[in-house]
Amino acid sequence: MQKYRTEQIRNVVLLSHSNAGKTSLCENMLFQAKAISRLGRVDDGTTTSDYEPEETKRKISINLSLLPFEWNNTKVNLIDSPGYPDFVGEVKASLRAADGAVVIVSAASGVEVGTELVWKYADDGELPRIVFVNKIDRENADFFKTVEQLSAMFGRKCVPIQLPIGAESKFEGVVDLLSKAAKTPQSLADKIASFREKLVESVAETDDNLITKYLEGTELTEDEVRGALRSATIKGKLVPILAGSALQSKGIVELIESILHYLPSPRDTGKTTAQNPQTQQDEEIEPDESAPLAALVFKTTADPYVGKLTYLRVYSGSINSDSSVWNATKKRAERIGQLYMIRGKSQEATPQITAGDIGAVAKLAETGTSDTLCSKDHPLVLAPIEFPLPTLSVSVQPKTKADLDKLGSSLARLTEEDPTLAVRKDMDTAETVLSGMGEAQFEVAAEKMKRKFGVEVKIETPKIPYRETITVATKSEYKHKKQTGGHGQYGHVMFELEPLPRGSGTEFSSKVVGGSVPKNYIPAVEKGVNEGFKEGGLAGYPLTDIRVKLYDGSYHAVDSSEISFKIAASYALKKGVSQGQPVLLEPIMNVHITIPDNFTGDVMSDLNNKRARVMGMSPGGGVNHIDAQVPLAEMLKYATDLRAITQGRGTYTMEYSHYEQVPAHIAQKIIAESKKETEKA
Ligand code: GDP
Repeated sequence: MQKYRTEQIRNVVLLSHSNAGKTSLCENMLFQAKAISRLGRVDDGTTTSDYEPEETKRKISINLSLLPFEWNNTKVNLIDSPGYPDFVGEVKASLRAADGAVVIVSAASGVEVGTELVWKYADDGELPRIVFVNKIDRENADFFKTVEQLSAMFGRKCVPIQLPIGAESKFEGVVDLLSKAAKTPQSLADKIASFREKLVESVAETDDNLITKYLEGTELTEDEVRGALRSATIKGKLVPILAGSALQSKGIVELIESILHYLPSPRDTGKTTAQNPQTQQDEEIEPDESAPLAALVFKTTADPYVGKLTYLRVYSGSINSDSSVWNATKKRAERIGQLYMIRGKSQEATPQITAGDIGAVAKLAETGTSDTLCSKDHPLVLAPIEFPLPTLSVSVQPKTKADLDKLGSSLARLTEEDPTLAVRKDMDTAETVLSGMGEAQFEVAAEKMKRKFGVEVKIETPKIPYRETITVATKSEYKHKKQTGGHGQYGHVMFELEPLPRGSGTEFSSKVVGGSVPKNYIPAVEKGVNEGFKEGGLAGYPLTDIRVKLYDGSYHAVDSSEISFKIAASYALKKGVSQGQPVLLEPIMNVHITIPDNFTGDVMSDLNNKRARVMGMSPGGGVNHIDAQVPLAEMLKYATDLRAITQGRGTYTMEYSHYEQVPAHIAQKIIAESKKETEKA
């Protein structure tokens, strides 16, 4: 690939609801640009973008793919992003690497939930965009209805710059509304005239000079309108709408030309802010080759054969093969070996990646996603990518001992690849807990672990870390005595047990006076109690919020030993706890839910069924925020539930709040369940 200057580059992310045709469209653009010689198909699993087995099997994109091609002295770095909500982390990373977006809408399905979501993401990232209404060849395709939906949903700034000629099986191609040279079929003449008028008026309204001319009745030239449309699109004031069919290769060349013409180069995007960690000051960095280096890592892949691959977007300066750079985020030096331009799974060596361009480097030791690479004498840190926090958790169980040995390291590699996955060991339940965005993401993670690292795991619902406690104060006593033949055993303790307020944990103390239990045996008593705290009598969960006081006992000069006192202590505790009217406690979570207003009723009635306590609500601007406290046991599949209730429009966060008593009828079930488990074991 030849070298391109910053203004000759377009970094473009393709966004849509799942299935609108992103991958097919990428494939077709690559084919038109002769970057590939054979047109692959999603349905045959042969596209350049979806090459991983987990993707071809499901016929969906899971990872973002880089798909550069050259067109008319410009390099277009297409970024194909997944549409499935579990892989939103890849979408966020793609958005960050891009300067502009193509939002794809299926003419048969119209604006869908996923369209709304990606639109919002693009708004958040202030990305200029164009819309491509795909699948005009499909049965029930309706371009005009889709345009109406787009305007209704996203405002009048969405304006068609083309019209399709025919539709469904009679779809012939597209006609450009601005080009006077375009051949227009007579049957469409009126529609074309009226849409052209609307387009010219919308464009004129964005430009003070043009609007004056327009209102004076002077006809605007094609170049004037195109120029102003370009500025307005880059500023986000207008969103041009195009039409076509990825499968029938119609409207594709026009889409490529529009990407070149209407979407910004990194030079148009302009300056980015980075922090200089030496001065603690923000600096404006230019998309300029001669400026100091600042490159953001937006993706990391781990492959057992190829090794680690780090994807970079260079914001300023340039990065060279065989050089040293400084990772200002981690404060570590990194050695850059060979740089690559990536296309799907293939790599092309390159000596340099310059300001505005995207590429990759293999085998970096320290660097992870969101880190900034720069030069040591001018350190810069770019804002990290904001990934959503994981909301759903599962327990990961290795199938064999060999799998267990490699579990930790392979999970660590997976979380490095996917920043929306997090792994932790739950000390209470002794499980390895994987948290993420959804069930499909966990399934894919398990498949990847098997394929890449040879580790087989089962994915299960995580255990709830229940606790047990007592509700009334009580006294208990136990004498451990074996004095038949040989060396005997003797330990005798008397305890006061008392419930403590929630969150106090466990306590042990001694108020023995006069040496009824000699001082040297008290640590053994404490040990017995502490061990007893680990397993309550109801369902075997740890005890909490309880104080045990040793207040009396007795000993035997010859037969008493530490072990005898420890045994006595553990029995006395068990006895005391069973007298203290024990109950089960469960973790309660603080949950913050954000939903479009019209789902409030459904979300609230679902929360009701989940034993939730609603703490507050703040509706406004069509959105409602609900704060509630809900038992963790009810929230294990909430990511899936909320997605179903709100058709994917709702989001939530959740954190631990406190423990509360489990209602009796539910506690009975948990206790019965645990009895069954113990009998099985
Ligand atoms: P993505 O999920 O957005 O990447 O969409 P894909 O490119 O995977 O396409 C989803 C499905 O729609 C596949 O079966 C494609 O063959 C089909 N498809 C894509 N573009 C078109 C199109 O223009 N016309 C028709 N009829 N089908 C299409």
